[in-house]
Amino acid sequence: MKTIIKNGIVVTSGSIFKADILIEGESITSISSHITQESADKIINAEGQYVFPGGIDVHTHLEWPLMDTETADDFVSGTKAAAVGGITSIINFTKPEIGASLIPTQEEWIEKGKKSVIDYGLHAIINHYSDRVLEELPILAETYGVGSIKLFMAYKGEMMVNDLEMYKIMKKAGELGIITNVHAENGDIIDEMIAQALAEGKTDPIYHGYTRPTIMEAEATGRALAIAEAANAPIYIVHVSCAEALEKVVEAKKRGVQAFAETCPQYLVLDISYLDQPNFEGGKYVCSPPLREKWNQDALWNGLQTGIISVAGSDHCPFRYEGQKTMGKDDFSKIPNGLPGLEDIFSILYHFGVHKGRISLNKFVEIISTNPAKLFGLTKKGDISIGKDADIVVFDPNRSRVITAECQYQNVDYNAYEGMKVQGVITNVLSRGEVIVKDGQFIGDLARGKYLHRSRVQNQESMANLQKDGQFREPVK
Ligand SMILES: [Zn+2]
Repeated sequence: MKTIIKNGIVVTSGSIFKADILIEGESITSISSHITQESADKIINAEGQYVFPGGIDVHTHLEWPLMDTETADDFVSGTKAAAVGGITSIINFTKPEIGASLIPTQEEWIEKGKKSVIDYGLHAIINHYSDRVLEELPILAETYGVGSIKLFMAYKGEMMVNDLEMYKIMKKAGELGIITNVHAENGDIIDEMIAQALAEGKTDPIYHGYTRPTIMEAEATGRALAIAEAANAPIYIVHVSCAEALEKVVEAKKRGVQAFAETCPQYLVLDISYLDQPNFEGGKYVCSPPLREKWNQDALWNGLQTGIISVAGSDHCPFRYEGQKTMGKDDFSKIPNGLPGLEDIFSILYHFGVHKGRISLNKFVEIISTNPAKLFGLTKKGDISIGKDADIVVFDPNRSRVITAECQYQNVDYNAYEGMKVQGVITNVLSRGEVIVKDGQFIGDLARGKYLHRSRVQNQESMANLQKDGQFREPVK
């Protein structure tokens, strides 16, 4: 099968140029100002449109158990929604039983993921410490290509590990070239604040925001970064939501810590006022960390533009309003934490970032595709160049659309960005050379996604380069 994408404006993290792209089988085989059409099986006319590398969402929670329920998207609905939204690879989190061996957990999640319509990788969550965990890390990395784990500093009793456990696990991970994702919030103090609020009869969704203050995110972020530094291990702070936490990342980068940060569309576009809506509407917007005061958004956009924040991930953790979010109608602490986001992250970042002049086109590609590929060892993804997988999004910047739950693929009964008009429409999405989305409709086969066995060597080299790019590296003693 030969496909040519004609006359598009190719945008990578480093350049913008008009070109034709030849795809043979699953890969990009030629990029040139004119590729003859004779032998092509399929021509996609991209005149006047951008041709981007496919989005890579490294923060998803499909089929993910939390708080006595499970996220509303499985790997079928979730990856269809991703594809329609311009995401061609995801890295989802596993969820082991507490104390369980990581290996059968990994096997179980690879199996679940086989339903995916796009390529999928897995980060291994580690929710307890034992000698066995340390023994299993090299097996995860070698046998399963898992170059990233995740630790939680909150959710005591369900996922939280303590400082010493973090240190021991990160030290081993660092030796193996594994990067550690960290959910940084001070779980002990937050739990106490929640108990106090409830004891005072404060049960509305807004108290979810008030009991998880920015300072408790910043404190945990700083602590995680210090532990990473002591353990000589690379660290990736997921979902940075506020300026105070971001400052901790800046300080760590200055010290030469291999520290990377992610933010999410909800923190860039939504704010704490969404939690304060009447009639339990605020329940739809409960996620952790919570939505923040609006002024933090400028700091986050600035962090993206300057390279302090390397990646935008969705933290797609969808729960239906009816029957799931409403579990916490009388007690905000029983509202499952999380927002749907992977279907719209690409559009939201483009509209509020590029269209509104906050980030450049190249930066957009960098944070939504190139950096996630580099940091998480996806050597065939994240760029439009010869030899890469033909994961491509053709995007018409001259059209616009309105985001609404009515026509979404994600399996939730609301959309956090309902009614927002965004510039740009995705016209075609290709995954390994196959057109899987056309004009907003998913047209690919089911279960066509492949498990992403990820590289660590690339990972380490790229991290060193990214660190340099951030311009904060100082000589390591
Ligand atoms: Zn998450």
